[in-house]
Amino acid sequence: MRVRADRERCIGAGLCVLTAPEVFEHDDDEGLVIILEATPAAHHRDNVELARRLCPAGVISVEPA
Ligand code: SF4
Repeated sequence: MRVRADRERCIGAGLCVLTAPEVFEHDDDEGLVIILEATPAAHHRDNVELARRLCPAGVISVEPA
């Protein structure tokens, strides 16, 4: 699994950080998403997929690695 997030369209809502904190983080300056683990372990898959669905800006994508 490979995770991407389009920071240009991120609105900093933070649902991804709450849902999968091992994979997503906010940067301190702009409050926009940072990917901590672009290829997260398989046991994070469900939370990453939930974060993708919950992202209000629709900027998270998940692809097969
Ligand atoms: S949930 Fe979406 S809009 Fe909110 S911080 Fe994460 S990537 Fe950005």
